Amino acid sequence: MPEVKILEEVCKGCGLCCDNVCPENILILIPDRINSNGYHPAMVTDMKKCTGCGYCFKVCPEPAIEIYK
Ligand code: SF4
Ligand code: SF4
Repeated sequence: MPEVKILEEVCKGCGLCCDNVCPENILILIPDRINSNGYHPAMVTDMKKCTGCGYCFKVCPEPAIEIYK
């Protein structure tokens, strides 16, 4: 099963990965968490649904997403 790891401290909270990129619609910005740079980091809401397609990885402008298969 693929695993997406979001590096919360690297994430800039741009939301690109959450904006209709994920076919499974399982990426959100965490509303009640702020990283040390002041950004709401992204998270995967249901890892079981992740197909490992890599779209979120490709759209992220930061090296904030890692995918393990
Ligand atoms: S790898 Fe694909 S299915 Fe998994 S979170 Fe990223 S965009 Fe969604
Ligand atoms: S695209 Fe990258 S930097 Fe932007 S919210 Fe998603 S993980 Fe964070």
